Amino acid sequence: MSLSSHDAPFLWHNGRLKAWDDATVHVGAHALHYGSSVFEGVRVYATPRGPAYFRLADHTRRLFESARVYEIELGYSAQEIDAACLELIRANGMGSAYVRPIAFRGAGSLGVLAKQDDPVEVAILAMPWGAYLGDAAERGADVCVSSWRRPAPGTLPGWAKAGGNYLSSQLIAMEARRGGYDEGIALGHEGLLGEGAGENLFLVRRGRLLTPPTSAGILAGITRDTVIELAADLGLAVEERDLPREALYSADEVFLCGTAAEITPVRSVDRKPVGDGTPGPVTRALREAFFGLFDGRTADRRGWLTWVHAVGLRAGVGGGVPADPSLSLRAHGRAQAMNPELSA
Ligand code: PMP
Repeated sequence: MSLSSHDAPFLWHNGRLKAWDDATVHVGAHALHYGSSVFEGVRVYATPRGPAYFRLADHTRRLFESARVYEIELGYSAQEIDAACLELIRANGMGSAYVRPIAFRGAGSLGVLAKQDDPVEVAILAMPWGAYLGDAAERGADVCVSSWRRPAPGTLPGWAKAGGNYLSSQLIAMEARRGGYDEGIALGHEGLLGEGAGENLFLVRRGRLLTPPTSAGILAGITRDTVIELAADLGLAVEERDLPREALYSADEVFLCGTAAEITPVRSVDRKPVGDGTPGPVTRALREAFFGLFDGRTADRRGWLTWVHAVGLRAGVGGGVPADPSLSLRAHGRAQAMNPELSA
């Protein structure tokens, strides 16, 4: 991932498009000190009908659910965030992108408990981003089981995609990199399989597709849900169940999935080959079904795509959001009312 104005001249910040370099944050921002941000990662894919968001409404819903856990008031509706996401891709003229909406506590008071009227900032960044785990997406990733475990349920809420949670992911990913692995898999607090640093985990064992339950302190991934749905289309039921670490070593196939990682086969775990060390048939079929959504080989039966550019009278089968230029102005007005300095 590169973060540069060369790739996307504009980003959206507190209600309006801004030049990339103009979107700055005060060093007193609460989120910087205490991790009080909630965010999303969403992909825009190039399709034969132009760029389309994948499961935008689901990502925005999760953003609001995460914000609710931490009582972060965005000050915009889900429809306004969706519209801003679409506007951003249009403004940048992008054909595909990784998009990062984020809401965070800005600079106000510095107590751990933010005050009611402390500002909340909302930004959306778009950037080009290929395969998250590089060429591992094709060849298969070499992963390790991390010595770091995920926080237990009832400690840091796993369903909330909050900035602070990613300190755990950083420890897992750093350890993996130091050991020469592409990615690390974390166990949950009870020593059962959890998820990757930034991906959910699936195993194929004796023809059955298995994945840890979302009650295990992991993120309820949208790609994970996509895999479950696509597997059903392929006639494969997914079993969501507790799995011990050793299930990885006897699995016929293992793969990771996430918005950034998409569906990435795993070819070895702790240097032990998975299956014959090449992506297996279930992983390949799911990858094909998944990427087929974007080139039309897989029908978008569930309305997962939202086209960036209006097609005829509607902007996408999946309840796409029509362009509304007045939205950014309205939203801008509200951001100014909240904190005049922020949207200068
Ligand atoms: N787990 C973690 C810790 C993640 O960061 C991600 C990426 N958002 C995922 C799982 C996969 O979630 P999704 O498919 O919604 O991107």
